[in-house]
Amino acid sequence: MHYSAGNYEAFARPRKPAGVDDKTAWFVGAGLASMSGAAFLIRDGQMAGDKITIFEELDLPGGALDGIKEPKKGFVIRGGREMENHFECLWDLYRSIPSIEIEGASVLDEFFWLNRDDPNYSLQRVTEERGQDAHTDFKFGLSDTAQKDIVKLFMATREEMENQTIEGVMSEEFLGSNFWLYWRTMFAFENWHSALEFKLYLHRFIHHIKGLPDLSALKFTKYNQYESLVLPLYRWLLDQGVKFEFSTVVTDVDFDIRGDRKQATRIHWTSHGQNGKEELGENDLLFMTIGSLTENSDEGDHHTPAQLNRGPAPAWDLWRTISAKDPAFGRPDVFAGDIDATKWESCTVTTLDRRIPEYIQKICKRDPFSGKVVTGGIVTARDSSWLLSWTVNRQPHFKQQPDDQIVVWVYALFSDVDGVRDRVLHAAPGRRPPRGGARGLGELRVHRPVLREPDPGLHLHHRVLGPHPDGGGVHPPRHRARRP
Ligand SMILES: Cc1cc2nc3c(=O)[nH]c(=O)nc-3n(C[C@H](O)[C@H](O)[C@H](O)COP(=O)(O)OP(=O)(O)OC[C@H]3O[C@@H](n4cnc5c(N)ncnc54)[C@H](O)[C@@H]3O)c2cc1C
Repeated sequence: MHYSAGNYEAFARPRKPAGVDDKTAWFVGAGLASMSGAAFLIRDGQMAGDKITIFEELDLPGGALDGIKEPKKGFVIRGGREMENHFECLWDLYRSIPSIEIEGASVLDEFFWLNRDDPNYSLQRVTEERGQDAHTDFKFGLSDTAQKDIVKLFMATREEMENQTIEGVMSEEFLGSNFWLYWRTMFAFENWHSALEFKLYLHRFIHHIKGLPDLSALKFTKYNQYESLVLPLYRWLLDQGVKFEFSTVVTDVDFDIRGDRKQATRIHWTSHGQNGKEELGENDLLFMTIGSLTENSDEGDHHTPAQLNRGPAPAWDLWRTISAKDPAFGRPDVFAGDIDATKWESCTVTTLDRRIPEYIQKICKRDPFSGKVVTGGIVTARDSSWLLSWTVNRQPHFKQQPDDQIVVWVYALFSDVDGVRDRVLHAAPGRRPPRGGARGLGELRVHRPVLREPDPGLHLHHRVLGPHPDGGGVHPPRHRARRP
């Protein structure tokens, strides 16, 4: 869909590109980027689906958009995507992908009807003192100085902001405002992150400033994004004849580089311990996902902490390998060179009885079992030493989820801060400090008195991500020309 002249161009269908029947396409990675690339090639580029192959190192599609029930670990999600009206490519794609929930509807129809009938908004965005209202009262709390900071940042040139940190250009008054609390927890920004990135996000989401305090700017899927977004697209691509090669790691790509022209000539991969390659010619198109957000993430469980996996990391290693061949392929280590600074933790909590849902209901002021919006986006515990946020999306979040369970996603901005244990000990004298995977529960315990009971009625799934661009790797201070 092309928008350059309003809807005059938007609904005209492209003509079939010359020579497309002679071409084949190869994608590295079966995340949303590759799968939507394949779908656009079929729909708009009018390429036959059986000319398209997707290589994926994992044994299932979807990349970061996961959601799975692990037999021994329970329900696992890496996040609940915050979506909004202006995801231009996403909605353009999903208007053409059939829903697997509603006969005759597209995924976009299904999503639109759901969010129209049950709009997202929060009734309690920030808490303190174990679930008490922190009385940010949906206000930004911006002083004159803080307001001027925002305007100055907004109007600054990109050059002025490159390699600068947020705390380097914004005042203490701004950094202490409700606005910054809402923003940093919603978009996972640290104070030392890139002022340029913050500026670009401000431009990108300016239309949503009004909906920021109560998160009414956001929209969510019915189930986790694997079931609501990945599966319908995957099924449609299979129906079109697209081939998925799972458990296959692409290790290198050869190029014929002449001046500005770079022709991929060979893909190398490893699959089930065997090396393979594919020769590419003028009629082969190659699309590579480089530097995945969730690469090398490790999973713990209720008793075992997830480990930080420092590599090898195929998505980043492939980028490093090809970037060594030509400077035009970018600088991966701007984003992945400092694992300790950019690592990130989250966990999925499943409640096993009614006690925790009652506390959830007190905070979010909605029935978590209603099937409708629950917390309406994240709830942030302002006095958490991790600056912890948690969210309960519409339940059930998984189709297989029993009716009496709630799946909660938890993440924290300062996951390296120790002291959580001390606070738990202090709060609950005589109790042993939380250990292993239940470390995340330690922080929850501090903020929810009920969790200090001996049998908390919870199951925790702990997850650590390696270099994590969303939590750091994309946000570190950078030159304006350096993008992943
Ligand atoms: C916790 C979290 C919260 C997020 N929140 C939001 C949000 O609120 N809103 C939003 O819009 N976005 C959000 N995102 C970002 C969004 O999920 C991603 O931008 C998007 O899913 C990325 O899709 P992708 O296909 O580009 O990459 P990925 O989903 O990372 O897929 C890349 C795939 O390629 C595979 N791969 C990589 N290298 C190789 C190789 N060499 N060989 C074979 N396979 C390879 C990987 O295994 C992976 O499956 C969030 C992400 C996370 C992790």
